Amino acid sequence: MATIGNRPQRTCVACRKSKAQGELVRYVVAPDGTLLVDYRHRLPGRGAYTCIDLNCLRKAVESKQFQRSFRGRCHEVSYESLAEELQQSVRQKMMNLLGMGRKSDQLISGSNAVITALRQGKDIALVITTEDISSAIAEKIRASAERENVTYCQLFGKGMLGQILGKGERSVVAVQTGTLADALLFELQRYTHMVREN
Ligand SMILES: [Zn+2]
Repeated sequence: MATIGNRPQRTCVACRKSKAQGELVRYVVAPDGTLLVDYRHRLPGRGAYTCIDLNCLRKAVESKQFQRSFRGRCHEVSYESLAEELQQSVRQKMMNLLGMGRKSDQLISGSNAVITALRQGKDIALVITTEDISSAIAEKIRASAERENVTYCQLFGKGMLGQILGKGERSVVAVQTGTLADALLFELQRYTHMVREN
């Protein structure tokens, strides 16, 4: 296996580019032959890799690269279901990050608290509103975030966000500048990149 320094390199089965393993999506085959997205690189067994790019995923499916990599051990796969699974994996990663941050002082939740924090010029890196928030409130928060040059996105539902934060329903959360925000912004960039391509 090729390595550069101590970062293991892997090759995308679609475009054949070699990249650091962490920059690629890993796939494994379950014992029943189902191809699984192993976004966290944790599942056992032999892996195949693609770029975090839906074009590479589509190409890999269309040219049957997964069947080839796993020597026929995996069933036929559909691009749509794998793309959905990949997007869901990134959403799940963001949920986990928010969940880990809930006991820190880096999260501010609730629309009034977030609007006040933005107005007071608190050091906020990211504001998330849920996909089921009223469009008037979403617009108000988006506009405040934009005024302060803060990244804004819509993700999850308010029941889910509340659950992640260990509270009742929540439709708005702000993340203060720091390592948690950096990790979330990194995943968000991957996510929006994939959704746009789709
Ligand atoms: Zn690729």
